[in-house]
Amino acid sequence: MKRREEMTFWEKIYIPEIVKGLAITSYHLGRNLVINAAHLFGLAKSRRAFTTVQYPEERKRYSDHYRGSHRLTLRENGAVRCTACYLCATACPAQCIYIEAGESPDPHVEKFPVRYEIDTLRCIYCGLCVEACPCDAIRMDTYVHPRIWGFDRKDFVETKEMLMHRSRVIAEKGREGNMEEMQAWYREQEAQVYNPERPELKTYTERALPRHYAQTEPSPEIPAIDRHHARSGN
Ligand code: SF4
Ligand code: SF4
Repeated sequence: MKRREEMTFWEKIYIPEIVKGLAITSYHLGRNLVINAAHLFGLAKSRRAFTTVQYPEERKRYSDHYRGSHRLTLRENGAVRCTACYLCATACPAQCIYIEAGESPDPHVEKFPVRYEIDTLRCIYCGLCVEACPCDAIRMDTYVHPRIWGFDRKDFVETKEMLMHRSRVIAEKGREGNMEEMQAWYREQEAQVYNPERPELKTYTERALPRHYAQTEPSPEIPAIDRHHARSGN
């Protein structure tokens, strides 16, 4: 960006840039109007009008390099691959991973995580947990973004079961599976809120707490949050 003293007279008065911006906007508006009108009469079918993606109902496909929400990978027998070594929690700069280790029922494995939780409101999606893991037990290749709304901090804590569930979905439905499930969950939530047959559901806050789209078991205690609150004194 140029500093003010480096700008020309025309750049300093901004008017040409404003006119340029208006010209671009007007061009797209006019082009869309003409193309949409032509489509109504069955013309110019090969020309596509610019459209706004109706997110989150619609979405653009994420890049293959996208690294969003986490998942815990699974062994061939479906058990969690994590050995509860705490390296990811130690490496995490946001201190948002909570692990409780237990003795593994598998005689070949020493420990497994009885609880594994990530507080996604604190996570900065740096990927250091993935880098730190010595056994490829945690990945961020789920092609879903973090949950975008909830009613309570607890709604944003991802439990071991949710994190394992994403791996099962990828194995069964491929890379689009988790996003399809998340969108179905959003539609279900919206349908509840705007259901005209249930006028009591006027606002998000007037209805029962929703379940996470991948939640298959209740998670009454949220140690990741409790631990942070205990440390900060809140
Ligand atoms: S992505 Fe970074 S901040 Fe998030 S859980 Fe992993 S290490 Fe922590
Ligand atoms: S996810 Fe990996 S680094 Fe974290 S506790 Fe499990 S095995 Fe250790």
